[in-house]
Amino acid sequence: MNNADTQTIKLDTVIIGGGIAGLWLLNRLSNEGHQVALFEQDALGSCQTIASQGMIHGGIKYALSGALTGSSEAIAAMPERWRQCLRGEGDVDLRHAKTLSEHFYLWSTAGVGSRVTSFFASKATRGRVQSLKKKQLPPPFDHADFRGAVYRLIDLVLDVPSLIDTLYQNYTDRIFKIHWQQARFEQQTDGCVTALLINHPQGSRRIEMDQLILTAGEGNAELMSRLGIHRPAMQCRPLHQAIVKHHHAIPLYAHCIGTNPSPRLTISSHTCQDGENIWYLGGDLATQGVNQTPEQLINHAKNELASLFPWLDFNQAQWSNLVINRAEPRQKGLLKPDNAFAAYSDASANTIVAWPTKLSLAPALSDDILHLLKQGHQETSLPCNWQTLQHLDQPKISQPVWDTLFD
Ligand SMILES: Cc1cc2nc3c(=O)[nH]c(=O)nc-3n(C[C@H](O)[C@H](O)[C@H](O)COP(=O)(O)OP(=O)(O)OC[C@H]3O[C@@H](n4cnc5c(N)ncnc54)[C@H](O)[C@@H]3O)c2cc1C
Repeated sequence: MNNADTQTIKLDTVIIGGGIAGLWLLNRLSNEGHQVALFEQDALGSCQTIASQGMIHGGIKYALSGALTGSSEAIAAMPERWRQCLRGEGDVDLRHAKTLSEHFYLWSTAGVGSRVTSFFASKATRGRVQSLKKKQLPPPFDHADFRGAVYRLIDLVLDVPSLIDTLYQNYTDRIFKIHWQQARFEQQTDGCVTALLINHPQGSRRIEMDQLILTAGEGNAELMSRLGIHRPAMQCRPLHQAIVKHHHAIPLYAHCIGTNPSPRLTISSHTCQDGENIWYLGGDLATQGVNQTPEQLINHAKNELASLFPWLDFNQAQWSNLVINRAEPRQKGLLKPDNAFAAYSDASANTIVAWPTKLSLAPALSDDILHLLKQGHQETSLPCNWQTLQHLDQPKISQPVWDTLFD
């Protein structure tokens, strides 16, 4: 592969994986003057990012036991951080990303809310939760038959395809599709990865790098094994989401409080390419549904909607389901990690392995990675000639799951 016709280009950093983690990091490092390229093997945002509900949350959903937790505090600053970026005042430019909702809601059915009522009225959650009066209730809670309390959170909801596209459009000349049949890493005997070799009919390339950063989500495991890396280890926690396509023009972004310290049901609303609406259903329904068949999950989801919104008719609705893993750094007892995670690997001194653990935590993940690079006195390379890579393929943007699951 490395013959006389191969041109060499020198970068300081190569990122593998174009979900939210890799795309955010590429934008952040590029804005800070790094010579960095990202390689994606499929469409940008494939896997978890495109399947996410788009909530940028401030942690209150992790405090439903009635107390703040490590998880609720680690993420508290994220909504404001993202809002700065959406205004064009943050460390990454998100001015072209679409906001689906400025708020997320939290509601309790009659009789279930008492655990959180005084907590949400306390100093501990001031500025993060607002209890709504009857005349402030958004649809579908403004119905005469609704019994319960509704709270407005500072969380916002983004249109994920437009988010991915925005991060891509900011740096199209640095983002490429990689075909691994025609590419491989060059690794020294001490494990350090020195280059990415790409064989291409219009000109092979040797992309030298100081640092390699793996942000391939679940794909990190295979990449690590290819590079002889054992740590950090990965865990996967699955979800079984339900999706209902219906005729109600009611955008809803809300968690239902149940008897558990986690939301009984989380609903986000999205519009399909054909203009129809879907509600995407997660929360306990999805975590407890991992051992259910699609039929069992959908029946459970139908019963939940019938009991929570008896005044809405879903008889004509179409249903679907999605099983998907959340890829994270391994925790004792397969618990949910509180924070974003990035660390140098055990077997390759210049390879960082990273998982954001939440879409919301992508900015925090980039902070952590920049910190690691600074500790290693990582210098930025001299500006390179990006034209050298312009014949390489460009990846597409992943299609939302609701546009692929229905006939
Ligand atoms: C159903 C669901 C709902 C969620 N909802 C939310 C939410 O509302 N809010 C929130 O904060 N978090 C949410 N999350 C969590 C969030 O989606 C993830 O933490 C985040 O998207 C992970 O991003 P990532 O970039 O690490 O991985 P991914 O999005 O999985 O991206 C990895 C990318 O790497 C690519 N890749 C894999 N292997 C290779 C390889 N060998 N070479 C090149 N590229 C490769 C993949 O094709 C993919 O594009 C949700 C997760 C799920 C599953």
